[in-house]
Amino acid sequence: MLFTVIGLFCFALPLVAGGAWVLWLLRQEHRTPRVPILMYHRFLDAKKVASGELVDPERVWVALDSELDEHCAALAKAGYTAIDFDELLEVFAGKRTIDDKAVVLTFDDGYTSCWDLARPVLKRHGMKGVFYICLTPDDHSRELVKGIDDFMTPEQLRGMHELGHTIGSHTMSHGLLSEMTDDEVRWELTESKAQLEKHIGAPVDHFCIPRAGGDKRVIRMIGEAGYTTSTGADKGGAHPGCHPLRLPRIGVSRGTSGEALLARLHPLRAAKERMLSDIRLIPTRVMGPRVGYELRKVLYGGPIRRALLQEHLMKLILLAGVGYVGLGVFWLMHTFQ
Ligand SMILES: [Zn+2]
Repeated sequence: MLFTVIGLFCFALPLVAGGAWVLWLLRQEHRTPRVPILMYHRFLDAKKVASGELVDPERVWVALDSELDEHCAALAKAGYTAIDFDELLEVFAGKRTIDDKAVVLTFDDGYTSCWDLARPVLKRHGMKGVFYICLTPDDHSRELVKGIDDFMTPEQLRGMHELGHTIGSHTMSHGLLSEMTDDEVRWELTESKAQLEKHIGAPVDHFCIPRAGGDKRVIRMIGEAGYTTSTGADKGGAHPGCHPLRLPRIGVSRGTSGEALLARLHPLRAAKERMLSDIRLIPTRVMGPRVGYELRKVLYGGPIRRALLQEHLMKLILLAGVGYVGLGVFWLMHTFQ
């Protein structure tokens, strides 16, 4: 009897819940109008990388300028128009219709390479982007790009705004908001908003949560600070059913061709990414963003280990799934023999 109950709890219930979850994921990616929000970080000069003048082992939080060029060309050819978050909200509210397919291009952290390398590419393709700026990045964030990149100046931010791009906030320090007190979170949200508005002379209404540090309290406070949209670590395509302060995105990293990018925008592929991201975020959701962040640092420590995990996560999950099904079959055979 005990064996049967344990088996029901371990195999039958998770199977039903898992099936319902996968159906929910598929449903999310088939809601319309669906707008993929792409997530970029910093860029490398492809010519300098090819000549060996620039060496950067990072694979995930970076892309080549030639790759962004290829992505924009592929998106335009496939009929996509780049819109901003004000337009996205109007589309989702039914106040604006879009003839073409729409996409939002977002760029996190405010790196100088966005000014030097991404800006000319976007101009060439007549596309606009959303740049999430972190005004006084902490030592850890600066150390990560030391000697390779830097952060945009107030003049460059104004220049981006004047070119039609959106300037959004990514906090002052790039710290984990979920670990901060209410006063600290409020300061990160309002001070960055006020300073950015002063730099560009226009309202700053859009926010991005650094380092998967969003929880219910943080999301509520983002709204209270006057932001109308927010993005973070959630993955997938965005649709009108999404919470505007928890809009999912699709991360684009180095080595992605234009064709591969278009394939990743397909609802089935996006559902798979949503699923993998939800699995990756389990430690963060169960044990909190601090533990999740430290765990990710250990797991994804080196660039090679990170690349291996990124590329093989699906295989690892499948392997675990086969083991799980095997145990389930063993339970069934012993329960109903
Ligand atoms: Zn960031």
